Amino acid sequence: MSGVIDLFGTLPDGREVRRWTVRDAGGAGFSVMELGAAILTLDVPDRHGAMGDVVLGFDALAPYLTHSPYFGAVVGRFANRIAGGRFVLDGHTHQLACNNGRNALHGGTIGFDKRLWRGAPIATADGPGVRFTLTSPDGEEGYPGTVATSVTYVWTEDRRLIVDYGATSDAPTPFNVSQHSYWNLAGAGTCVLDHLLRIEADRYLPVDETLIPTGELAPVTGTPFDFRVAKPIGRDIETADAQLRHGGGYDHNLVLNGAGLHVVAELSDPASGRRMTLATDQPGLQLYSGNFLDGTIIGKEGTLYPHRSAVVLETQHFPDSPNQPHFPDAILRPERPFASRTIFAFSAA
Ligand code: BGC
Repeated sequence: MSGVIDLFGTLPDGREVRRWTVRDAGGAGFSVMELGAAILTLDVPDRHGAMGDVVLGFDALAPYLTHSPYFGAVVGRFANRIAGGRFVLDGHTHQLACNNGRNALHGGTIGFDKRLWRGAPIATADGPGVRFTLTSPDGEEGYPGTVATSVTYVWTEDRRLIVDYGATSDAPTPFNVSQHSYWNLAGAGTCVLDHLLRIEADRYLPVDETLIPTGELAPVTGTPFDFRVAKPIGRDIETADAQLRHGGGYDHNLVLNGAGLHVVAELSDPASGRRMTLATDQPGLQLYSGNFLDGTIIGKEGTLYPHRSAVVLETQHFPDSPNQPHFPDAILRPERPFASRTIFAFSAA
């Protein structure tokens, strides 16, 4: 295993953004930067041993500041949407910044993805990695309470990326973090619709036309949202279905079966043989099929990223939980720190 720190870029205000690269002896590994605690690259071999970078992103810092659709970033304080950017907590109404039509998305105008985290190398029993910390002050983007949060990335010899989230708050506040990497196991620039996807979810959350859950936990049976048996992401994506219309494809939270840390999904690319399994202890998985990638973004090595050229698999609490009391509780309270783990495991066959 090896770890390298270098300067990825400098923010307009002069603050430096450092990058860490962690690799195993075979050359697989990842790099992350302090802006947004974002994953920049993730290299894993195909079935012939050829390394490929399986996440979308940019080669330099500048485009991350202007037009990144959350490439690789940690999203928070509240991943996904809160209706009207408003919620009532312990009798008080809070109004957030609305940065997605009439809703709040991914923590607001300056969410965790646009904040400069502080990184430090760590060594764990599982392997080496990087620990990022961030303090989100009381009132940031309209959220109550000062939140101290951390995200740790560790790379293991058997090619798992372990992502640990932690948070404490001095006052109750909605809290929901996720990793927003755009996966394409074939390598960048290709369409992701041939990838096979399996998700262990009997139910999903239908949404309204602004992508806020209606509140129903609907069965996936007989719908395009049934991924219980692996199928190509594109197989049903053009079905005439009101839900797919709302999202312009998949942009929905699946209600994961089971509880505790367990494997909930598997993504594989028949062409390269690369495979990724996803384990989490979170109740939901946002399946986003890159519908808003419109073919205008030029990413790493000058590669144009076409429509639906990656899939985002966000382990998280349900969107709009603060307004939907029957959803799993997503309020972080001073007496109950937040701790959660997601594991991305890579192989090839
Ligand atoms: C959301 C999409 C949103 C995207 C931003 C996803 O998590 O579900 O609706 O457009 O993030 O890149």
